Amino acid sequence: EAKEAGRATTVVYSERVRDRRAGRLAIETDLRRAAERGEFSLEYQPRLGTLDGTLRGMEALLRWDHPEMGRIPPSHFIPIAEESGLIVPIGHWVLETACKQARYWMQRGFPDLKVAINLSVRQFRDAGLLQKVVEALEASGLPPANLELEITESGLMSDLDRAVDLLQDLKALGITIAIDDFGTGYSSLSYLKRLPIDLLKIDRSFISGISDNADDRAICQAIVSMAASLTLETVAEGVETESQFECLQEIGCREVQGYYFARPLSVGDFSTYLTRHPANSPR
Ligand code: C2E
Ligand code: MG
Ligand code: MG
Ligand code: MG
Repeated sequence: EAKEAGRATTVVYSERVRDRRAGRLAIETDLRRAAERGEFSLEYQPRLGTLDGTLRGMEALLRWDHPEMGRIPPSHFIPIAEESGLIVPIGHWVLETACKQARYWMQRGFPDLKVAINLSVRQFRDAGLLQKVVEALEASGLPPANLELEITESGLMSDLDRAVDLLQDLKALGITIAIDDFGTGYSSLSYLKRLPIDLLKIDRSFISGISDNADDRAICQAIVSMAASLTLETVAEGVETESQFECLQEIGCREVQGYYFARPLSVGDFSTYLTRHPANSPR
């Protein structure tokens, strides 16, 4: 009997695995066509200065509107794009599109606006990345100082020597490098010292507890002071409440991003947001 039950469970299990594989494969097939069918778009989430509330820049976030399934969250399709390698061409599209869009907004009265783009581990490992960044800057006319690349710790730590070389080349162009989701990976202080980076984005998981959890608050405080002593800036991601924002002000985190200020916005909504927002400090 136990054997029977065991077999039944196995059948159900393998059916699930098969369904999931089939679902994954279908997503992968659809992802391959998504770009040429114009199903991708970008949203832009404002990032603000903690002290004066001015708009400093925005993070470009990829959106996929599937013709039958509707909008599929990045947490669902990015891992598939990553594993299949499709993230490389998709990432190039993101880079080109975001640089052009940022240049457009810059020219309309926001010369200091900085656009932040997420790079996946796979893209970071791709030999053509540096060239692609150069091309995207040239094609768009976006000054390198207005571009920031966000990379996760896992992308950097797997091959530290190569990461250092590549980051140095990228930084030599004049762009800014951020570590995304900071605190969730394995970076040690010595790694951080070796990496030519400019800022740390404190992961949302620490921000969510900052106003009522002493440990989270201590972690954020430690990240900010450690960053300061390494002359790195800090940005908090996922700020959702006023009390979280107040804690970040007290701690001295320089910039903030989150639903409390603004959600990721479509191009049209971001343009409207710009017209209602004080221009960031003139040069
Ligand atoms: P991420 O880079 O850490 O981006 C921040 C995520 O947090 C975004 O989710 C954003 O919409 C969400 N968020 C912002 N403020 C808040 C808040 O106050 N509360 C909450 N609960 N969430 C907030 P999204 O757009 O779903 O993207 C998820 C992840 O997908 C990103 O995390 C990033 O790792 C990846 N991703 C998005 N776009 C791209 C892309 O163009 N290329 C690559 N390689 N990855 C991307
Ligand atoms: Mg990010
Ligand atoms: Mg992040
Ligand atoms: Mg995150």
